[in-house]
Parts: sequence; structure tokens; C-alpha cells
Amino acid sequence: MGLVRNWTMRSCRLGWLAAFCCMFLGVVAAAPSMSMEIVGRVPRVLILYPYDERIAATTEAGEAVRTRLLDATKGKIDLFSEFLDLSRFPEAEHVGRMGRYLSAKYADRRPDVVLALGEESARFISANRKNLADGARIIVAGFSSSTAEEMDLPGDVIGAFSEFHILKTAEMARELQPEARHLFIIGGSSEFDRSWLATARADLAAFSKSYETTYLEDLTIDEFTRRAAELPRDSIVLALTIFKDRDGRNFIPREAVKQISETASAPIYGPYLTYIDYGVVGGSVVTFESLGKTVADLALDALAGKPTSNRESPQSYVADARELQRWGLSEKNLPPGAIQMFKEPTFWEQYWLATVAALAIITAQGTVIVGLLVERRRRRAAETESRHRLLEVVHLNQSATAGALSASIAHELNQPLGAIRSNAEAAAVILRSERPDLELIEQILVDIQNDDQRAHDVISRMRGLLKKRGEIDWQEFDLNDVTTSAIRILRGEAERRGVVLSANRAPRELPVRADRVHVQQVILNLATNAMDAMLDVVTTERRLTLETTLTKESKAELSISDTGRGIPDEQLASVFEPFYTTKPTGTGLGLSIARAIVETYGGKIWAANRPEGGAVFRVVLPLARNG
Ligand code: ADP
Repeated sequence: MGLVRNWTMRSCRLGWLAAFCCMFLGVVAAAPSMSMEIVGRVPRVLILYPYDERIAATTEAGEAVRTRLLDATKGKIDLFSEFLDLSRFPEAEHVGRMGRYLSAKYADRRPDVVLALGEESARFISANRKNLADGARIIVAGFSSSTAEEMDLPGDVIGAFSEFHILKTAEMARELQPEARHLFIIGGSSEFDRSWLATARADLAAFSKSYETTYLEDLTIDEFTRRAAELPRDSIVLALTIFKDRDGRNFIPREAVKQISETASAPIYGPYLTYIDYGVVGGSVVTFESLGKTVADLALDALAGKPTSNRESPQSYVADARELQRWGLSEKNLPPGAIQMFKEPTFWEQYWLATVAALAIITAQGTVIVGLLVERRRRRAAETESRHRLLEVVHLNQSATAGALSASIAHELNQPLGAIRSNAEAAAVILRSERPDLELIEQILVDIQNDDQRAHDVISRMRGLLKKRGEIDWQEFDLNDVTTSAIRILRGEAERRGVVLSANRAPRELPVRADRVHVQQVILNLATNAMDAMLDVVTTERRLTLETTLTKESKAELSISDTGRGIPDEQLASVFEPFYTTKPTGTGLGLSIARAIVETYGGKIWAANRPEGGAVFRVVLPLARNG
């Protein structure tokens, strides 16, 4: 019970006496003007806590004092803490024993300043200062100046007093509930509770005129709880203290307030920080920080030898954000500077750093994506452009090939045309005879038809070679078949040049995806080069071999080997460079076009010399599918 009591003091009932008392204390306090001499050591400050270390009200205030003192002195201070435990051991015997014990303990380390938190500590140090802290400055804190006056403290004791103004708390409630019509004030039955009620009656005399006011007093805890549950919604409830109920049951006031608030039908306010988190909306209170600062500043002034006088710890409006929400009260109506406790930070407050970082990343990503898209568009445009160029060049290359092969093609055409003419002549002779052999004529006509077909095939191969296309004609085809059709085109030229043309076909299908005519053009380029390279070789040794295989890496390979002069090793790579030629009338473009075509379809081309003489060119293309 005592543990709250020390922190729940009445406002000054006898204002003039208190004012006088405060003035008196201030004057006396200033008088000795710190004759304290601290030489060759850091100052010692002893903080006396009235209870044990579990009591938040005093330990938190003490912690605030310690932090402030350590900050202000940069750690150059000796702080001692003693928990007097006087609420559990209030007996005079314990107090005496504690006094003797501490006097002995601090015999060699007398404190320069003693900070007595709470009424019991103040009484304790007043009684024991001679033995425990002779010559030390005594600062008391955590209760009202009127209580100090009643305690009759030694004249040189200075105080950091906490006044509890119920009117300020009531005004905060009025701001939050402008529509309220009823006012209820709750107070218990102990002597302290009753005197608090009397003080509140006086302090609220004017304020309560605007409300239908009821004092809920002389009730049992159950009656308090029941009455609070039946209040009209437009009520303001002010909770003072309930140390005792009508039945004489003792309470820690905030526990009693908590019980009442759980089922209350209207918001409850109270003038103590310790009530926060116990079901009250808030009130005008002395915060631990405020108390800590006032006490520490007094202590620092005392240590510095400055004149000191009594001070009042400033009050703050404090509200529990959860209770505001519970009762639908707008935080906008809180008094300016009010502190909201238990307020969930907004999404922005909680995650502003992450949000800014995420936005920055998204923006950066967006920029990169836009950049990539632009780059992709550019690349596509460039690819289209280079594809068109390639098509142009390949077409020119095809035309050149057709030109180079024209002699042999003409020769190839001559054969069926000559045969057609001979057969036609023979048929005419047979028809002029007396008994024409119709069967023979029929046979001749079949031959003519076949020769015509051969001529037609030669022409259509030429047409394919010369046809111009605006786009790549992607198709899947068997590399073996393209090789065969290229051989057909080359056969006449090979014959003309005395080259033995042979083919080794892979035993399986080699499906590739490309433009068929382009791949055929690569074969024609490589084959005509090979035949050129064999010009100096004796006719019997001129051999051109086209071979298709499946590589170990499951790719389609075409090799074209000859028995020509080969390529100087250092030139094996250069032959693919544009305009590299060793021929008097060469352009040096055939191999570079071949490489451009092969790479367009994801393949590779390279040259090597065969150990037995001659060169071999290999083309590898990815398989369009397996199997
Ligand atoms: P061009 O045939 O107009 O010279 P290419 O690019 O087709 O242009 O060939 C470049 C050069 O590569 C040829 O001039 C020749 O020196 C060399 N070359 C190409 N194929 C062979 C081959 N099978 N054997 C020896 N040299 C070759």
C-alpha cells in the first residue's frame, strides 16, 4: 500500500502554508551554499529507494536520475543505491537496524549527496543523517510539498516535489470528451483516500458545475465495479486513490482502478503515471524522466556548490493510445505536447527506412528495366538491320556462285537437251518407216520426258540459288538432305574439273533449324574453294569429300575435305576474315559469309589441315531436337 502512497500525494490543501514552507525551505537550503569540498576524488551520491527493486515507480525514477547524473558528469561520479524495503519492513526495529548497517557500510565512503526517493526514504535519512551522511546535502523527491511540510524535515533538506493536480486531469478529460454531461469521481475509504476526495471537491468546485457530478465513495470494490459498469456513456470518470474500500480491504490503488476499468462503461482518467496501462485514458502526471531530471539537476547544482532551492517536477499530459482507441477518443483533442504511450507507430514511422530503401531500389530497378528495354529495342533493330544485310550479302554470294557454276550448269543442261533432240530425231525417223515400232516410240517419249525432268531439275536448282528473300526462312530440315542437294548442284562442276566427288552420309537424321538455302550456300562456298585449291593437283588425285556426322556433343557436323594444297597453319583463322584471298580474281568474301551464316544459326565453322594433305572445313550446327 505504501509503495503507491508515496507517489500519490495530495495537492496543497493549505496553499499559503505550503508556499511559505517552500519558500522557507528554499531560503534555508540556499544558506549553507555548499561548503562541501571534494578533493582528489569523484563525488559520491547515494540514492535511497524506499522499497525493493521490483517497484517500478521508484526504480524507474531512480534510473532516470542515474542516467542524467552519469550523462552530465560523463561518468565521473560514484553512484550508490540502497533499497530500504520499508513497505515490507516498516517496523522501527528494521529501520534502526538498516540505519546502523548503512552507517557502518558507508563509514569510509560518506556520500556527498543523498537522494531520498519517496516519503519513507526522506524520513529515514532525516533520522539517520548524522551517522550515515554527516555533512552531505539531502535531496528528497517524489511527494508533494504539503506532505513535506507535514513531515517536518530538517531545514536544509531540499525537495524536488511532485504536485498532483486533479483539475488538470479533469480539463484533459473535458477536451477529449466535449460532449460529456456527467462527472464521476472515485475515491476509497482510507484516511488518505478521504482527504484526497476532500481536496478534489475543493479543486473541482468550479469545474464540476458544468456536469451532473457524483462522488462515488464509501463503496466496496464490487460496488465500485458495478456502478462503473452502469455509467452513461457521456460520463467522465476521475479516479483518485483506493487504498481501502468500505469493507476495509486494502488495495494497491492502480490494481483497484484496473479492476474497475475492465467493465467500466465510460472512460476513466487519473493523475498518476502508474495508472497508465491499468485501464485509464491518461491524465496530468509527473513522468519518471521529469522527476529524474529535476532531482539530478538539484544534485548537480549541490555538487557544484551552487545555491539550491526547492523545485517542482514539471507535469506532462500523458495518454494511453489504446484507451483512446477503446473509447473512440480523438488524439487531435489531446492537449498540446501530450505524450501518447503504447501508440502503434504508423506504417511510415515503423518502416520509413525500409520503405525509402525499397522505393529507391524499385526506382533503380525501373531505370535499369527501362534502360534494358531501350537497349533491347536497339539491339533488335540492329539485329534486323544486320539480318537484312546478311540476306543481301548472301544473295550476292549466291549470284556469284551461280555465275561461277554457270559453265557446268550449262553443260548439265546440254546433256538432257541434247538427249531430247536426239530422241526426237530418232522418233521422227521411226515414224517415217512403213511399219513404225510404236513400242519403241513410246519408250523414246518416256526418255524425252525423263530428260525434260532432268533439265527442269537443273533449272529449279538454279532458281533456288538465285531467289532473293526479304526474311530468313526458318525451317527444320535434315542436314543430310541439304548436303545431297548441294552435291547435285556441284556434280557437274566437279566433273568438269576432274574432281572425284564423294559423300559419306550420317546413318541417322540430323535435324537442324535454319534457312535451308543459306546452309546450302555454305556448302557451295566451301566446296568451290576446295575445288579451287586442287587446281594444281594432278587430276587423278583431286578428291572432294562431304561427310555428315553426329558429334559426341550431339551436334550436327558437316565436313568438307579436299586433297588440295592446304592452308598455311598461321592462316587457318585469317581465311575467315573478309577480303582475305590468295586468288587473283578472288573477293575474299566466301568464307566470311559462310561464318556469318553459320553463327546466325548458333553454329561454328573452322578450318584445319589434314595429315594426309589438303584442308578440311568443319561446320557444326545445334540439333533442332534429339532423336
Ligand atoms: P575467295 O575464295 O574469294 O578467295 P574465300 O573467303 O572463300 O574467298 O577464301 C579465302 C581464302 O581462303 C582463299 O583465297 C584461299 O586462300 C583460302 N582457302 C579457302 N578454302 C581453301 C581450301 N579448301 N584450301 C586451301 N585454301 C583455302
